[in-house]
This record gives sequence, C-alpha cells and structure tokens, in this order.
Amino acid sequence: MHAIVLRAPGQLAPDDIARPAPRAGDVLVRITHSGLCGTDWKIFNGAIPVQYPLVMGHELAGEVVASEASGLARGDRVIIDPVLYCGQCFHCRKGQTNLCPHGKLIGRDCDGGFAEYAAVPATQAFRLPDSIPNRIAPLLQVATTCLHAQRLTPVFAGESVAVIGLGVSGQLHVQLAKARGASVVIGISRSRFKNEMARALGADITIEAGAGAVSQVLAATGGRGADVVIESTGVLPCVAESIRMARFGGQLLLFGIMSAREAALPFYDLYFKELTLRNARAAKPEDFADIIRLMERGSVQLEPLVTHRMPLDRLEQALTLVDDGAERRLKIILDHS
Ligand SMILES: [Zn+2]
Ligand SMILES: [Zn+2]
Repeated sequence: MHAIVLRAPGQLAPDDIARPAPRAGDVLVRITHSGLCGTDWKIFNGAIPVQYPLVMGHELAGEVVASEASGLARGDRVIIDPVLYCGQCFHCRKGQTNLCPHGKLIGRDCDGGFAEYAAVPATQAFRLPDSIPNRIAPLLQVATTCLHAQRLTPVFAGESVAVIGLGVSGQLHVQLAKARGASVVIGISRSRFKNEMARALGADITIEAGAGAVSQVLAATGGRGADVVIESTGVLPCVAESIRMARFGGQLLLFGIMSAREAALPFYDLYFKELTLRNARAAKPEDFADIIRLMERGSVQLEPLVTHRMPLDRLEQALTLVDDGAERRLKIILDHS
C-alpha cells in the first residue's frame, strides 16, 4: 500500500509498504482523511524520538474494509482512537486508560495512518453518524483531549472561563466551556483572526494577548479574575499570566503541553490565591462517544476550524506549515483519496 514513511528525522518519503493484516479483534480501515498537529511536527523533526522507519499520523478517519471483530462491519465510517492501552494494569482497571504505562500512541509508538490503510483493535474505532462527515472527523480526536481535560475541571453554570491561546484546542475549549453553561467565556489570542473565530464559536469576549490581558480579564469579571483559566499555549509566560488572571480560589487547567522541566513561576501567587492546578493527558474511550453526541447536538463545531486541506502526498509541506506561526492557520486536514 501507499504510505509516507519517516526514515530518520526530517527524512520523509512516499513508499510502497505491506498492507497491515488485521488480527482477531481488529478492523482494517481505509484512511480517507487525517489531521496534522504539533506532535507530528515534533516527531518529524526529531524532538520526539521514535523508532524508524515510522508511518506517523494519529488523527484518523476512514472506512472499515475488513472486520475481524463484532460490532463493526465493512462500510462503517469510523474515527480512530489512537491511544492504545493494555486493559489489565492498575491504571486501566481504575479506568485511567490514558495513563496506562504499557500504552502506545498510534503514529508515534507504532505505525499510524499517513497511509492507505491502518489495522487497529475494533475497540479503538468509533462509528460516525451520518451527520459527521469524514472530512472533519479527524478533529474529533483533538476534541476528545479537550473534553477529557474539561471533565477533570468542574465548571458551574454562571462561572467565568478564560482561555489563553485560541489555536484548534483553544477554540474547542471555548465551545466546550460554553456548552457546559459558563456565562462568560473569554478568549485570548494575539491573532485577530483567531479572536474573531472564537467569538463566532461562542466566546462572549475576546482580548488581544499582551500586556493588558490580565487587567482586561479582571475588568470583565467584576474585578475578581476568572473562575477557571484554561492555558492552551504551553508557553511559560502564558502560564504565569494564567496564574495572575485567575480569581482567588479559582482553577487553572494547564492544557498546553509544557516541555520545560523546571521554570520560574509566580509560586507565591499560586499559594496566596489558593489556586487548584489541573493537568490532563490524552483522552479515554468514553470521550469519543460523548464528543460525537455533543457534535450531533450542535454544541461543538469542527468545520470552521479547518483552514487548510491538502493531499496526503504533500505531507512534508503540510508539516512545515504546522510550525510557521501563521495568524490564519488552524487545522490542516490531509485528503487521502
Ligand atoms: Zn494530534
Ligand atoms: Zn494498562
């Protein structure tokens, strides 16, 4: 089958490789569309070490072409949950499959879906309803990670939520916070385009990131600060800012992945404001079923988040776009047809 293979950092090339053979319990999925994200960029440039050769790709939608499992049949359209787990260990038995120490991410720890086909356990594939087309379905995977994070972060109707960083995840956090009944959702970005998008998707207020952002959040929340701040950039100064814009007794959801192992932060403020800090990693199977339901209810829109569509064979060019910091870029979807 046709695949785009990473042979070493920065060395990506189309190739003809063996089509994966589904084992008992697996489905073979013809991938129709895939999404690109920062993780793919980091794998491509070597920042995330992997075993080569590797087929990347973990945001995958397609159609079942062969099934060795009950529950899914040939012709079913599916979204793939790329987080593999063992099902036997302490964490899996506690329902924390996303933290399984034997877990793997499809497209990082084993071959993924920048290819014609992928074989995955049927338990990792979720049938798409007619209302969700494949061309936007890869975004469901991203949305599950936001849903998982918000599940861990209580929000009560009427509370205020500030979202720092309005990339794809930030836009999804805005929508989920609104769907949960937050009365004031504040989006914060440097990009005018992303601020406008957030308002179109439900943000009540948007603020241009920068020196005045904290005081504007205070002004928008009766001088108190936001009940919940969702940090969605992974950039350290934004974490410090999120501490400053949270109210006393508020919560911080650190969603952006921070690669710094240690850093200076306003720790005294964390203590003095008695803030609750939450982290969230990946998602669980339940999040797929629930995000599909939220989409069907119209609570979450994915289509506006797709700003670029390219054929699979232009993967390398698409990867360089992921890191270009463009003001008007959100999701890049690859078309495999
Ligand atoms: Zn991703
Ligand atoms: Zn496990």
